[in-house]
Amino acid sequence: MKVLIIEDNPLNMELATDVLTASGYEVLQADNAEAGIALAQSESPALILLDLSLPGMDGLTAVTVLKREPGTTLIPVVALTAHAMKGDEEKALAAGCDAYLTKPIQALELPETVRKIIESGVPK
Ligand SMILES: [Mg+2]
Repeated sequence: MKVLIIEDNPLNMELATDVLTASGYEVLQADNAEAGIALAQSESPALILLDLSLPGMDGLTAVTVLKREPGTTLIPVVALTAHAMKGDEEKALAAGCDAYLTKPIQALELPETVRKIIESGVPK
C-alpha cells in the first residue's frame, strides 16, 4: 500500500520513511506541495502525510487543492505540524485534513495512526 509523504525537512522525511517502510508501506516522497499534488494525482496513494510548513505552497493550501480535485478528494490527509498549538490543529482540520500529528514524529504513533485512518477511510 502506498503512502505519500510531503515534507521538506530531510530528517523528518527519513524518519517517517523508515518507520512506514518498516511497517510494510511503499513510500512516495515529495519535498514540496506542487510535486506532492502531482504524485497524489498520478499514484493514488492510500494516504498522504503532509507537513503544514513547506516552502512555496504551504500545507493548508495543498490540502485545499487535494480535497477540491476529484482525483484526490478521497485520499485521507494527515497533517504534520511542528507547532503543538490548538489553533493549528483546528486550521488543519478546517482546511480538509482528516487528522493531524504533532512533531517530533513518534515511531510507534505514526504507523498506528496511518493504519487506523487507512482502515476507516475518509468520511464521504
Ligand atoms: Mg516543513
